[in-house]
Amino acid sequence: MCGIVGIVSNRPVSARLVEGLTRLEYRGYDSAGIAVVNGQGIVRRRAPGKIINLQHELDDAPIDGTCGIAHTRWATHGRPNTENAHPHQAGNVAIVHNGIIENFKLLREELAQNGHVFATQTDSEVIAHLIQHYLDKGLDAEDAFMACVARLEGAYAVAALVGDQNQTVYAARHGSPLVVGFGEGEMFVGSDAFALAPFTKRVLYLEEGDSAVVSIDKVCVRDKTGTPVTRDIMTASISAVMAEKGNYRHFMEKEIHEQPEALARTMAAYIDPENDMPTLGKAAPLLAEADRLIAIACGTAYLAASVAKYWFEGLAGVHVETDIASEFRYRTPALPKNGAALFISQSGETADTLAAMRYCNQAGMSTIGVLNAPESSIARETHAVMRTLAGPEIGVASTKAFTAQLAVLAMSALGTAQARGCLNDDQVKRSHQGLE
Ligand code: GLU
Repeated sequence: MCGIVGIVSNRPVSARLVEGLTRLEYRGYDSAGIAVVNGQGIVRRRAPGKIINLQHELDDAPIDGTCGIAHTRWATHGRPNTENAHPHQAGNVAIVHNGIIENFKLLREELAQNGHVFATQTDSEVIAHLIQHYLDKGLDAEDAFMACVARLEGAYAVAALVGDQNQTVYAARHGSPLVVGFGEGEMFVGSDAFALAPFTKRVLYLEEGDSAVVSIDKVCVRDKTGTPVTRDIMTASISAVMAEKGNYRHFMEKEIHEQPEALARTMAAYIDPENDMPTLGKAAPLLAEADRLIAIACGTAYLAASVAKYWFEGLAGVHVETDIASEFRYRTPALPKNGAALFISQSGETADTLAAMRYCNQAGMSTIGVLNAPESSIARETHAVMRTLAGPEIGVASTKAFTAQLAVLAMSALGTAQARGCLNDDQVKRSHQGLE
């Protein structure tokens, strides 16, 4: 889901890697980092938060080289902090990864048995270790990369630096988009053509299962069977929106495929990694102490509210009314005395939902927004915000924004059931692990 940029050149790449990352800011992210190959081998800088923090790191301790990879991370596994930020390094390998490695636990156990020590909580770090493992076995860089990719399950776009003096970026995609860009005497890799727009418009979209060896003047692409293939080079139409669509026929198709990541990321945000239990932030006491809940929304978000009714009533024993915001706002609804109201909206700007929220606020109810847009009007005015981490949804029929709403509501119902003593810790843990 998040951003990848790679450059193979004969001139310094650090500043341009960061420039490419800024092009990807619109996708949302929580940390950023770069790695380059220079005279000392692979060196990297990483920072949590905005790209400007990475820039400050680079200003304080500059690194540069003529080949490098960079990443904006949006965490699905492990907290958003420096240690978990990409690129991840193992020996002479550095990698950046978008997506989720489903079999990372198994791979991690296997590599740990072979003496690999892990520095992060991410699923992605296994990729670096696995490549290094195959290098240790005597495979050359390309074969080690390919052997690693063959063992990965899940969704990924990966770019890797393999070997400490090697002027090559190795790339592979399965479920997450990746493009290769052609410059004048240099080559690029990006998670979309927009990231590469400052450098080149000539791009090749890798297809599902493709891997690529990108060197300074050429790219060798193999398909999922390992057979060398030629992919068309096109001129990208540089509108952010068009570039972002990648190989998909339309946004809805793309957003359907983004659901596993959106769900994993959203659920992870509501699990406390210390005790593996739901953590609902400011919303927790409002939900736990309410005698009744009202869930108010429009359109698809109203369907999420209707599902939430089942969960809150069935798991936490709280009575829930659902209301369509446009009906609610034009009557004078009677409100429960000790109640809390949930407002579900992708944009956080849905006019009827906003008006309904203001009515409840004025009446002194506790209000909670379940929102995809943290800067929105509803977010600013509710007492607690529960974010869905679905990323921008362009398709008109809601897909990943809806499933991310369900994820938040399921975690809320479980956390509330636990707080109210309706489920014990074990039942709560088993339920959320079942959802994952
Ligand atoms: N699953 C990876 C992580 O949590 C990559 C997330 C992303 O796509 O940025 O670090």
